Amino acid sequence: MTLNEQHSSEWFTRAQAAIPGGVNSPVRAYGSVGGVPPFLASGKGAFVTDVDGNEYLDMVCGWGPMLLGHGHPEVIGAVQEAVSRGLSFGASSTVEVELAEEIARRVEPIEQVRLVSTGTEATMTAIRLARGYTGRDLVVKFAGCYHGHSDGLLAAAGSGLATLALPGSAGVPEAITSQTIVVPYNDLDAVRAVFAEHPGKVAAVITEAAPANMGIVEPDAGFNRSLAEIVHEHGALLICDEVLTGFRTGPAGWWGEEQSGRTLGGPEVSGGWTADIYTFGKVIGGGMPVAALGSTREIMAKLAPQGPVYQAGTLSGNPIAVTAGLATMRLADAGVYEAVDVAANSIAGMVCSAFDEVGLAYSMQRVGNLFSFAFGDGEALGWTGANGGPRNEAEVKNQETWRYPAFFHAMLEGGVSLPPSAFEAWFCSAEHGDRAMERMEAALPAAARAAAAA
Ligand code: PMP
Repeated sequence: MTLNEQHSSEWFTRAQAAIPGGVNSPVRAYGSVGGVPPFLASGKGAFVTDVDGNEYLDMVCGWGPMLLGHGHPEVIGAVQEAVSRGLSFGASSTVEVELAEEIARRVEPIEQVRLVSTGTEATMTAIRLARGYTGRDLVVKFAGCYHGHSDGLLAAAGSGLATLALPGSAGVPEAITSQTIVVPYNDLDAVRAVFAEHPGKVAAVITEAAPANMGIVEPDAGFNRSLAEIVHEHGALLICDEVLTGFRTGPAGWWGEEQSGRTLGGPEVSGGWTADIYTFGKVIGGGMPVAALGSTREIMAKLAPQGPVYQAGTLSGNPIAVTAGLATMRLADAGVYEAVDVAANSIAGMVCSAFDEVGLAYSMQRVGNLFSFAFGDGEALGWTGANGGPRNEAEVKNQETWRYPAFFHAMLEGGVSLPPSAFEAWFCSAEHGDRAMERMEAALPAAARAAAAA
């Protein structure tokens, strides 16, 4: 199959004139895989269609939100009904309360929730809240974890920065980055060392519940529990960033998966830990701009208007966006998670078989229904993860990334849209059923050969 790119090409030319790099978020630019990004016109279930009429199996799923697949009739219906009543009031609406209650119901340590519009705002506010609550300034983050694009969190971040190999961002003053201490992921001794070096100074450690922005990196067995212990021992707060994993890897996010001990072929996990602040986005908006932070009543009481930590938003809790999120969350029952898990198992298995078939060395990186692949021979490359794959950002960067563009484009030719970077997770929806599997199976052999030949 040769893709028809005429209209996407024309639009991309216009976009590059009108918008920096032609995109409104860097990872969309196909920077590391090359070529023309398709301009998408519509989506239904597991498939998306571009302006040239090419249909793709969608393994991006809006970068996470589309847990139920595109255009779920009940979500669309709820949004249409809400739209007919008005788009934005800048005043409270009932759906905001219902979504906050739904989040707190699912994640037991959470007593109160503040809704915002993006994951960036959620983590930025979580940091400010942690500082306001503890009266301390320093923040610890892990290299390769991405928490949005607020100034203090861009140091050694994953996602587009990993794809573009940027250590941080220009335009962020030294005075701000100096308040963020970056340590390697899965390295508890490094965390202990920071606390030893800066006694009484660290407000919070922020971590992705399971890292998914440098590809997937599996947390070591018991890593999150030990991390929580260390952080709490030193009077700091643990911020568990579930913007990506929240209500996607399971009904209570990755935190919930660890508590219930479900492994799905991923890492060994251990429950018995709680974070102090949780952040969410993506799924809780069902494809519209909703994100949130949640914590105990005591910590949340520090937020304005009750407390001195300021945070606000004209569109926070927007009724249309929240309606989409609430409908999505209400539909995301055990059956949905089971369907996503089944799809993830099948697709991950198919990809492994296709790579094995052509003798490609790789590691499948996996946390629950999220997965990614790192090309290369782990022993030769020095990967030290329990699964034989890369265990932190330095090891992640040591992979045969040059194989990815060839693989990616062969998959695209075969009608499968993968994340346009080796450093991103693959996403399934509950609609990734038989037709999705057929498409995947048909596209994989040629793509695996292309990757092996690269
Ligand atoms: N935290 C994590 C773990 C994320 O994956 C992302 C986005 N990919 C963010 C924060 C930022 O969210 P947003 O893009 O909505 O600002």
